[in-house]
Amino acid sequence: MRTITLGSLQAKQGEKIQGYVHLPGVERPVPVILICGQQPGKRILITAGVHGAEYPGIVAVRSLAAELAPQVLAGELILLPLINSAAFFSRMPALVPSDQKNINRIFPGNAFGTEAEQLAAFIDQILCRSIDFYCDLHSGDIHETLLPHGYYSGIAMRQLQQEARQAACCLDIHCTVQSHSDCGSLSAAAQHGVSALLLERGGNGVYDDADAHFYKEDLYRLLNHLKCLTGIQMPQRQSLVLDFLASESLQAGCDGFWEPFLRPGARLANNEAVGMITDVFGSIKQIVRSAQPGLIVYQRSSLAVRVGEMVLVMAIGQNNLEQLDKSEQISDNNSNEK
Ligand SMILES: [Zn+2]
Repeated sequence: MRTITLGSLQAKQGEKIQGYVHLPGVERPVPVILICGQQPGKRILITAGVHGAEYPGIVAVRSLAAELAPQVLAGELILLPLINSAAFFSRMPALVPSDQKNINRIFPGNAFGTEAEQLAAFIDQILCRSIDFYCDLHSGDIHETLLPHGYYSGIAMRQLQQEARQAACCLDIHCTVQSHSDCGSLSAAAQHGVSALLLERGGNGVYDDADAHFYKEDLYRLLNHLKCLTGIQMPQRQSLVLDFLASESLQAGCDGFWEPFLRPGARLANNEAVGMITDVFGSIKQIVRSAQPGLIVYQRSSLAVRVGEMVLVMAIGQNNLEQLDKSEQISDNNSNEK
């Protein structure tokens, strides 16, 4: 009989169980839901709350876990709605409070290290070892607003990149961007030969019902694409998901008030003015300009900015430009995959 086991938790075929995994150096135990489907299929890992103030994904995973019955699942689901509970209850952006480290910058982590290092090691060395696909849900942080989009590892094997792109094309997102990080959740999955997507939706430290709902819909679409759902009819998504080869961050050259001219989703030309930094008297201290063409995927939404901090991130190097002209005519949402 098929089972999923994680720590002291075990779900047998046709069972859904919930509980906590205790890591020795982590203040709050990690909540887990295991669903072992009635039928065989892929094993999928879905995480949220790596960053504690990114709420839509946390609620979406919790809601999916409550709704999904083992009887309609082919395969196994490992759901972790809130990786970084300490930050969630501290309302702290990006970091783990006890060590001030960003989990998604320190993979593969260290099972004997600080709290953030142990959480990264748990994902890398325990969770990513025996799965077929990994989806990690994020949002803009407390000071960030963004366009719904996704990342896949640009350093993963070509086949893993293609699998991630094909999955992304089924989702309600505007674009995918290759991540070239070698210390995040995507690269951790890539090291284990696992295809993975990191999704972004919502932001500003806001819990928004609609964002959580759209996120949950995307999780159903993802599971449907991975052939994990039986007896649930999912409408296919029809539009084009653009693909970009990289992202580029624009930084503030001085402390000041950040006043953007544009919004996420805006197309940028080379050397286009994207916003200005002013002082407390209203004098302009810097006009921030793009260094190349691209698409704004997220930007700072706080008025305050300090020198060197990100004001805007743009996706650059569009990979499927030739499909843009055809986007009105696309009927098969996977047809843009190369
Ligand atoms: Zn995040």
